Amino acid sequence: MRVRNKPWAMDKLQSYPQYVLSSPEQYKGKWNEVFVKNQPLHIEIGTGKGRFITGMAKANPHINYIGIELNENVIVTALDLLIEENLPNLRLMNVNANDLGDIFEKGEVDQVYLNFSDPWPKTRHAKRRLTYKSFLKVYEGILKDRGEIHFKTDNQGLFEYSLMSFSEYGLLLKYVSLDLHNSDFEGNIMTEYEEKFSSKGSRIYRCEVQYR
Ligand code: SAM
Repeated sequence: MRVRNKPWAMDKLQSYPQYVLSSPEQYKGKWNEVFVKNQPLHIEIGTGKGRFITGMAKANPHINYIGIELNENVIVTALDLLIEENLPNLRLMNVNANDLGDIFEKGEVDQVYLNFSDPWPKTRHAKRRLTYKSFLKVYEGILKDRGEIHFKTDNQGLFEYSLMSFSEYGLLLKYVSLDLHNSDFEGNIMTEYEEKFSSKGSRIYRCEVQYR
């Protein structure tokens, strides 16, 4: 999907440092000091316009959340949501998932969400998929022991690839749904892409996997 260039986006992100954490490396090992309450930390990687992470933070005040997104033109919309909601348990970071090992100590993150990650269908681009083994290593380096990844997508090819990638990495497949919206899963919070694709009739795939 094409994203409109917003030349003002970076300035806006920088003018809300209480919501969009700049130089997040400074908090490495000290993430429990960033939020009002010291409680579990869940992160969403590729958070887009922020609908999911804002909904999760509203629904679960006993969990801290960070929405991570590399595209400033998109995360600026998540910032608008956060300004409106002013949630004490949600922060945003405009960084690349590749760099998360410089930002979190091992064990500082309790759970990772990946929602509708870019599929990168060409084999030569497989390394860019957020479920490629090098990313699984990055997540392992920041998650607590037995930490989990929760993954949703409408893309069957990416889902099949990701199940293989998780399995080859040695992750435990705890839950797999091949049709989330017609399953008994409760409390689903939709993302922007999920709303768009499911309203056009696409099936939504979801899994939960755990490091051993
Ligand atoms: N999760 C949102 C949703 O479901 O509506 C957005 C999905 S969009 C297809 C994928 C997002 O992941 C894009 O906004 C993209 O910029 C972001 N992204 C891709 N690779 C990333 C990376 N390495 N680090 C951070 N964000 C990334």
